[in-house]
Amino acid sequence: MNTEQFYPLFLQAANVVIDSRKIEKNDIFFAFSGENFNAATLSEQAIDRGAFAVIVEDKDYEDPKNNIFYVPSTLAFLQELAIYHRQKLQIPVIGLTGSNGKTTTKEIIHAVLSEKFNVQYTRGNLNNHIGVPLTILSIKTEHEMAVVEMGANHQKEIEFLCTISKPDIGYITNFGKAHLEGFGGVEGVIKGKSELYDYLKNNGRTILVNANDPIQLEKTKDYLQKITFGNAESDYQFELFSEQNFVGLIYKNEKAVSKLTGEYNFTNLCAAASLGLYFGINFDKIIQAIENYTPTNMRSQIVEKGNKTLVLDTYNANPSSMAASLKNFITFEGSKTIIIGDMLELGDESEREHLAILKLAQDLGFDEIITVGKIFRKVNRSPLSFEGTAALTEYLKANKISSKNVLLKGSRGVALENVIEFI
Ligand code: ATP
Ligand code: MG
Repeated sequence: MNTEQFYPLFLQAANVVIDSRKIEKNDIFFAFSGENFNAATLSEQAIDRGAFAVIVEDKDYEDPKNNIFYVPSTLAFLQELAIYHRQKLQIPVIGLTGSNGKTTTKEIIHAVLSEKFNVQYTRGNLNNHIGVPLTILSIKTEHEMAVVEMGANHQKEIEFLCTISKPDIGYITNFGKAHLEGFGGVEGVIKGKSELYDYLKNNGRTILVNANDPIQLEKTKDYLQKITFGNAESDYQFELFSEQNFVGLIYKNEKAVSKLTGEYNFTNLCAAASLGLYFGINFDKIIQAIENYTPTNMRSQIVEKGNKTLVLDTYNANPSSMAASLKNFITFEGSKTIIIGDMLELGDESEREHLAILKLAQDLGFDEIITVGKIFRKVNRSPLSFEGTAALTEYLKANKISSKNVLLKGSRGVALENVIEFI
């Protein structure tokens, strides 16, 4: 079975699914064997649930309905099918990568472009070698555009993901200190993320540039096809605006205020607004999209709890996003407690970076600094340094936080959201 032979069947099916619990009638199920599952049982389940077709690596199946397809590698077949599908698509695809802010930017771009077009986009954080093909395969004939998030923690990953998503327009949210371990330092991050620029340049595609970022300017200086924002020479110019901890932008005297906090989100909003204007969407509509977008995903999300204001940024953390988050939070009115968790995957730089963040937090002058995790524990010997959320929970049960404002930010692995109910 090759992709070309299978493609007509794909077009008849509903959705492509890799999680057997989520299969619905007429879906195509790709069976990946996991630690606790084998593909045979999963395939049986899939057929029972009305799957249209099942893709497996193993040949030993009964196949009464003739809908089980054998391939040497489920993963490779998924990727090849996505590449094949992408080649048939005639719609603009917008590809995003960067160290921080991909998901947020992707969601706002989707909100803005949806004011005029039927836009498919990456769901959640499905941004890797499986997520990107799944996103591409979810694009249907009714879609007029797609926004694809691409993540990477090592070199050549973005290059590969670009061969699948083939973006017509690309944007790098920023170059920051994330996944330093896999990339080999900040220079490695710049090189790795720039694989998107290389793809766009080599294929004559368009690049969206934040002219306020010197690295982006330098990297794209000899590009022909650019859309720019961020400085006085740019195609689109926005001014920062903020109101009650929420960030917004002003364009030609009209303002749009989002429900996001953090000045870093200004850049994310500018990127989305630029694309909206580029695709001919009225700024009134863009304002509507920005004002209506509500984050619910623990990324720069503000939650009122009793008389406290909580900033939930527990989805992820690395030194750049942590610093940005702290600098934003210090501007909140009233007393402030920060609960910050370990920033993982930093390799050799790890302890130094944690110490630097601790120092920054102390310099900014928060009323209370609580750290969570083994790495912070090494550099922070205060009684408010906890090994994990379990220890912090015990503490919070006995000691209520008195501050008006509380920031929670840490890496996914620390799962700081576990303590929210005890604040
Ligand atoms: P992941 O690598 O987990 O997919 P991501 O790049 O998709 O992350 P988001 O989930 O959108 O990033 O945001 C994570 C956090 O990064 C935010 O909550 C915020 O603290 C920070 N952040 C968002 N945008 C920016 C930005 N432009 N610059 C710096 N930090 C940012
Ligand atoms: Mg993401």
